[in-house]
Amino acid sequence: MIEGLLKESVRSLTPYKPKSYKVLAKLDANENNHVALKLNDKIIEELKNLKINEYPDSDSTVVRGMLAEDLGVSIDQIILGCGSDQIITLIINAFIDKGDKILIHTPTFDMYRITNQVAGGVTLEVPLGENFEFNCAEFIRVMKEEKPKVIFLTNPNNPTGGVIPKDDIIQVIENSTGIVAIDEAYMEFYKDSAIDLVEKYNNVVVLRTLSKAFGLAGARVGYSIASTELTEAINRVKPPYNVSSIDQLAAKVCLENKEWSKEIIEEIIDERERVKDKLNKLCNIKVYNSEANFILFNIKNAKDIYEHLINKGVLIRHFGEQGPLAGCLRVSIGTKEQNDLFLKLLEDYVLL
Ligand code: PMP
Repeated sequence: MIEGLLKESVRSLTPYKPKSYKVLAKLDANENNHVALKLNDKIIEELKNLKINEYPDSDSTVVRGMLAEDLGVSIDQIILGCGSDQIITLIINAFIDKGDKILIHTPTFDMYRITNQVAGGVTLEVPLGENFEFNCAEFIRVMKEEKPKVIFLTNPNNPTGGVIPKDDIIQVIENSTGIVAIDEAYMEFYKDSAIDLVEKYNNVVVLRTLSKAFGLAGARVGYSIASTELTEAINRVKPPYNVSSIDQLAAKVCLENKEWSKEIIEEIIDERERVKDKLNKLCNIKVYNSEANFILFNIKNAKDIYEHLINKGVLIRHFGEQGPLAGCLRVSIGTKEQNDLFLKLLEDYVLL
């Protein structure tokens, strides 16, 4: 009976289910493995004064204010979400009716397609090129023909790590008749943000998160920056109290300590380049260029390697044996020790 009652769009849905193994080195979800403990102490100190019996500030005013000041925009241009996942949901819920179209490049982050499917929307896909580069001409051709209501550009892209040149982003915006959502979950590792474009184009929304560079994935805090007009439109579907007071407090502490996060970001970028160089020296491997905090590579026996690493306590991401990511593995950049463990196990396996 329950199956029959489900929305038609949900009956065929494969849910997004992250794995939760206990491992020595968790390098599967692009988290920041450096930050946690130091922030924990400061968060615990402030938690002592938190009135947990009261609902949180529904507008997350303190954190939005801090972000607005950092980014040089008005507080009315920012929405705080329960992760940037929730911002994706808000955008889809605000703009997509049954049968409406969104346009994405593939492969990319799965949640655009999944959230759109739940809403009953149609997802149109333009494949990335042979080296997962953005195909701007083809993207614009499909966009002009199909007139999607929402376009998602992921920069840097997950899981490939590749980037979209700013000129291509501007061309997409100038040729679009819909909302252009630019997901910058990993932008702190690349530093060529499109936030400046929201002043010029009122249909552009940039998505950011504290989960990656700022090491706050457990607190679930993401945000959007857009024109006040677009922000007001998206806000119409935001549930009240969508970010808990514990999460708002964690975000405040995290932003107060952002100078320290900036040092760690530089360390992660250096480590990414070191791991990339080491991987490139192995045989039977193709390493994709990444500007994020992870590296995608294609390797012989990907599934066996993935399982071998789990058995040795290192969890990375495997994308199955079908589609454009067949044979690909993605490793998040962890601490130097975690990266060395991953590299050693991989080298030993390949040399076997
Ligand atoms: N966008 C991209 C491109 C991501 O990779 C992720 C997380 N994997 C998210 C959004 C969601 O991040 P969060 O909900 O933790 O902010």
